[in-house]
Amino acid sequence: MVSRIIPVEQFDLIIFGGTGDLARRKILPGLFKRFADGQVPEGSRIIGAARSEMDQAAFLTFAEEAVRDAEGDKIDATVLKDFLAILDYVAIDALGEEGWSALAEKMREGPVRAFYFSVGPSLFDDLARRLQQYDLVKPDTRIVVEKPFGHDLETARALNKVLSAHFDESQIYRIDHYLGKETVQNLMAVRFGNMLFEPLWNSQYIDHVQITVAETVGVGGRGGYYDKSGAMRDMVQNHLMQLLCLTAMEPPAKFDPDAVRDEKLKVIRALEPVEPHQIVRGQYDKTDSESNFRDDVENPSSKTESFVALKCHVGNWRWAGTPFYLRTGKRLEARDSEIIVVFKSTPHSIFGSDAGGGHNELRIQLQPDEGITLKVTIKEPGPGGMRLMDVPLDMSFAETLGEHADTPDAYERLIMDVIRGNQTLFMRDDEVEAAWAWTDPIIQGWEAVHDVPKPYDSYSQGPTDATLLMQRDGREWREIGA
Ligand code: NAP
Repeated sequence: MVSRIIPVEQFDLIIFGGTGDLARRKILPGLFKRFADGQVPEGSRIIGAARSEMDQAAFLTFAEEAVRDAEGDKIDATVLKDFLAILDYVAIDALGEEGWSALAEKMREGPVRAFYFSVGPSLFDDLARRLQQYDLVKPDTRIVVEKPFGHDLETARALNKVLSAHFDESQIYRIDHYLGKETVQNLMAVRFGNMLFEPLWNSQYIDHVQITVAETVGVGGRGGYYDKSGAMRDMVQNHLMQLLCLTAMEPPAKFDPDAVRDEKLKVIRALEPVEPHQIVRGQYDKTDSESNFRDDVENPSSKTESFVALKCHVGNWRWAGTPFYLRTGKRLEARDSEIIVVFKSTPHSIFGSDAGGGHNELRIQLQPDEGITLKVTIKEPGPGGMRLMDVPLDMSFAETLGEHADTPDAYERLIMDVIRGNQTLFMRDDEVEAAWAWTDPIIQGWEAVHDVPKPYDSYSQGPTDATLLMQRDGREWREIGA
């Protein structure tokens, strides 16, 4: 297989929040892996920046531990040493003047310059203003911002306003790490690289689409944040919406940032409002050994949802009449994320109505393993008449691609795309706002009636009402973890 990796230019990447959890778990290990794969050009530098007073050696120790935690024993000591040699640190306060001159002195003309805002959004304005004040922003400087991008439409607009006051939209990279997943891009390859699917990709042939992002973890240490957010804001408004967009969008004219994002935006804008009876909210309950949601967020009267299932419609010619069912939750039976495109049954069975089969499904699995399966109908082997069965045509990446299946983590890919200046996999300002404009009325509706989420057993399939949401339509969810 010939490598078609697009090379990156030499860069200076400054990570504000360089000592934080995201830097430790994702950004630094991701950069190490790209470095080990030879994708970080010589002379590139990664500079951690946070308030903590630490010298360069202390930051290197932090980074080394981060890489070791992520990579385990398989690290090549020489590669790690070379990687640490490109790291630096500057103690800086986003809210004060401390450290900014020191950072300015470290900057070089020439390399690509990117600032990763791995800090809470309340610091974006101060960071942006000081970057300008210290003349650190060049026309091609890139700014990376993390989720959550706003709490609702109003706060998302305010954040966009803050960023656009200091940077051009072409410089802003809003991360939704689901877009960095290999299989999500494979969804586009499958849809737009094959003739096979496009003629069938519409309401005439597709019965419905299911999108599930199920987690086994509870809210963990993020209780305070999560209690103010909930599954709708934390998962549906961004990750599930992006998966829906890539499944439903029209073919863009080319695979370029604005062509792709224009088509995704059209999908969001075509989403019809969701009626209350088309949504189920849930909150995980106790098991013998585990706490319930309200214990975890330390709020005994919390009405925040840890689970959402909903049915929605994309109101356009392609999708009129084909529902999209979205479902996400914490403390569910398995960690299982997938998009399932369920085709309609054959209009007439020449083998008789009780012969079985006839259920085609395209399943795009994102977690725990990545892969694509197409369910087709064949004859049940053996004598005894014409009995049919549905079997998967499997494309598990690990098996099919062998050594080439070592796909980069989403963060690795996205950071390298920032350096390449490719915004295709990042959300645009209007896209984020349109997504909030659709989710806001749903959340406001709950708040208006003081809606109480339905309890569900930890490590289950979610509330019974979610099952009924599908059953009422004569359909059923694929079992989580099956
Ligand atoms: P975190 O662990 O709390 O780290 C925050 C970082 O910001 C620390 O390095 C902190 O270092 C620095 N910081 C705080 N105040 C500062 C200031 N005034 N000036 C300069 N630096 C300051 O948070 P995190 O989990 O890494 O998350 C960072 C951002 O990514 C948040 O917006 C979060 O919502 C988002 N995010 C995180 C994850 C994740 O898995 N962790 C996933 C998705 C999105 P000092 O205290 O030393 O200043």
